[in-house]
Amino acid sequence: MPEKKPETACRVCGYDDGEILWGDHGFPLYVICSCCHNESGIGDDNLTQVRELRGHWVGQGAPWAEPCRRPENWDLLRQIQNIPEEWR
Ligand SMILES: [Zn+2]
Repeated sequence: MPEKKPETACRVCGYDDGEILWGDHGFPLYVICSCCHNESGIGDDNLTQVRELRGHWVGQGAPWAEPCRRPENWDLLRQIQNIPEEWR
């Protein structure tokens, strides 16, 4: 089995600033996403809920929780490609 990389991309929005969200053995580190404001371990440990959160967030116009962190040339669709495959 290949070693699983620690998860750094948000399961809901794909934002990845390199901070580890899910540690070894699948324990959440309760990190709040600067983009969609999801907290790892709260509501994003099940695919249905992740999709619901994502749908809600995108439905609001994909607002940034911390707009100052938003890159100038931010591209939602490009960011969404960071979402781990099993959470799409
Ligand atoms: Zn996020």
